[in-house]
Amino acid sequence: MPILRNASVPSAMLGRPGSGLERVDIAVADGLINAITPHQPGPGRDLEGGLVLPAFVDMHTHLDKGQIWPRKPNPDGTWIGALLAVQTDRDGLWSKADVGRRMDFALRTAYAHGTAAIRTHLDSIPPQQLISWDLFAEVRDAWRGRIELQAVALIHADCILDPAQLDAVARKAKEFGGLLGGAVMSDPRAKQAMLKLVEKAGESGLDIDVHADETGDPGSDTLERLAEAVLETGYTGRVTAGHCCALTAQDEATQQRTIDKVARAGIAIVSLPMCNMYLQDRDADGRTTPVRRGVTLLKELRAAGVRVAIASDNTRDPFYAYGDLDALEVLREGARILHFDHPRDAAWSWAGTVAYDAAAIAGFDYTAQLAAGASADLVMFRARTWTELLSRPQADRQVMRRGELIDTTLPDYRELDDLMEA
Ligand SMILES: [Zn+2]
Repeated sequence: MPILRNASVPSAMLGRPGSGLERVDIAVADGLINAITPHQPGPGRDLEGGLVLPAFVDMHTHLDKGQIWPRKPNPDGTWIGALLAVQTDRDGLWSKADVGRRMDFALRTAYAHGTAAIRTHLDSIPPQQLISWDLFAEVRDAWRGRIELQAVALIHADCILDPAQLDAVARKAKEFGGLLGGAVMSDPRAKQAMLKLVEKAGESGLDIDVHADETGDPGSDTLERLAEAVLETGYTGRVTAGHCCALTAQDEATQQRTIDKVARAGIAIVSLPMCNMYLQDRDADGRTTPVRRGVTLLKELRAAGVRVAIASDNTRDPFYAYGDLDALEVLREGARILHFDHPRDAAWSWAGTVAYDAAAIAGFDYTAQLAAGASADLVMFRARTWTELLSRPQADRQVMRRGELIDTTLPDYRELDDLMEA
């Protein structure tokens, strides 16, 4: 493989201080990055200033739900509409074969877009955990070397508070090297549920990833209660909380108090800008215009020292009608919805939210940094700047994995037509 010359790379992606772009030459040999040096003319492939980013990390997805929209759309676009639609679909149709084919479709899509590591939540309300976790283990093995996979057991508050069910789910997650999670919002039992979850994770040696406060209800306090549970129990595993939409609807004192506890508890936060824009602040008859963005206070959290990321969340299922597991789309929409673009000298630092920041939070082996000795897992664009990158879908991007360009053809939706007739 010749040297990739004249590439634009964010300094942060090189693990260096500074918030701008650097022009570099990237030497690739035997599937690895051999050296990254300041650009000089010479032999090799001239990228003409095109951006090169590390292959992406998508740290909050739902591969088990993906692509069911054609057979089970959301009737009204609301969160509760999504929950009930998915429940019906799961109870009736989520066999190993069904979930497996949709997962494979999702992973081929993400791979073609340039993603190298994915964390998925798996609906694990008994008895679904018996189907999805065994399948996940097979899929993780089959994709090893292309996409590094993690899974989180997703359950609701009733299940968390049922000792026998919680134990069964935690055992499954432990057996397959997963994490313990749950979705809790606007629930007076939030403190009790978070305590039970953290205690079970602690005794089982599991990390935690919770769907917290996915609502505009300012009374929803799961995130604060999770932080208290971590602080009170002395739990030492990794903790991530996703969504945390309610934080934007709360008064300033509550926001400050919660952010302070989250920082002290060492909880990382992942925001899901596309899915939250779709579900939040929507009424069931579709007559009112949404005014809230749904995302959480990501800038304030980061300023307080909290590690933050963004991710896809759902794709073409009742929770989000769109999406394609394209982390660049997540960054593009995140940049617009969350105003990553200003102050301008900080804009590129947010690109880590779909790369090295997300990788560090999740603890992937893949670190999503460009460094000598790392695997040559790169996404190469004709776009040279922030605004060129985020103005177009970049469908002509090239993806290099282990030093070789891969086929970036996306799977055809027609492949799944027979599953959607059910
Ligand atoms: Zn989610």
